[in-house]
Amino acid sequence: MTTHPSTRRGASAQTRDSALVLRRFRYGESSLVVHLLTSAHGRVSLLAKGAYRPKSAYCGVLDLFDTLDLTWRARRGADLGLLAAGAIESRRRRVSSNLERYRAGLAMLELAGLGAREQHEERDLFALTEAGLDALHAAEVEPELCCAVFDLRFLRLQGVAPALRRCAMCGTDLPSGAGSVPFSIALGGRLCEACAREARSDDARGAEAVGSESFATLRLAQSLLDTPFDHVARIRLDSGRTRSLRAFVRRFLEYHLETRPRVWGPRSRADRTLPRRR
Ligand SMILES: [Zn+2]
Repeated sequence: MTTHPSTRRGASAQTRDSALVLRRFRYGESSLVVHLLTSAHGRVSLLAKGAYRPKSAYCGVLDLFDTLDLTWRARRGADLGLLAAGAIESRRRRVSSNLERYRAGLAMLELAGLGAREQHEERDLFALTEAGLDALHAAEVEPELCCAVFDLRFLRLQGVAPALRRCAMCGTDLPSGAGSVPFSIALGGRLCEACAREARSDDARGAEAVGSESFATLRLAQSLLDTPFDHVARIRLDSGRTRSLRAFVRRFLEYHLETRPRVWGPRSRADRTLPRRR
């Protein structure tokens, strides 16, 4: 989708962009406030006047998970822009078709909202979020797996992807492992034996920050990072592998984002082995 800010002579400046609804809530009797991730303008908040009126042009347009084509006007002195026109560009009804997909979709939108900046191009984040939602919309899909792949790619986009093939400290290429290999969430990923020894003996770094991780999980994470997102919907894993991957990615993401997305809910036992942050 191309974005084309349009300014007509004599009219207030209008902006047009592709958008995904991150959150929405009712405002007054019949209006709606929508927080959006847009492609060329980052995070945008708009007021959709009269959206709840039966004859509103926005009735059924401002739904979660769909890609929208929106036009809005900034209002002087107001945080909320005013929605001027909207249409659905890509409908993804299947994401709302069951609770698991729905929660996975919400988790993606929540992370996208955490990563989106205001008045800043977010084309990569927008494309990633669309790809994640497209994968969730695919007919035969494992929502937990889609989420883990989205989270890994989100981490990479934020510049904090886990080091999986190389030592997070010295950068040396690491061989295949068996069983568990030295790993540190705080230090950024896999460690070679020498760096793991050094980090464990370094009180300032904190020995508790170096643990271990299943090599099979790390290899799976790397191969999923290398797989185009539209192929992910066709991957089948047994539920144990998916759970281990998801728990690993969540621990890493929660540590490096310094927050826990609300939609994840309370910590499960698998999430609790989080190192203390210094
Ligand atoms: Zn090293």
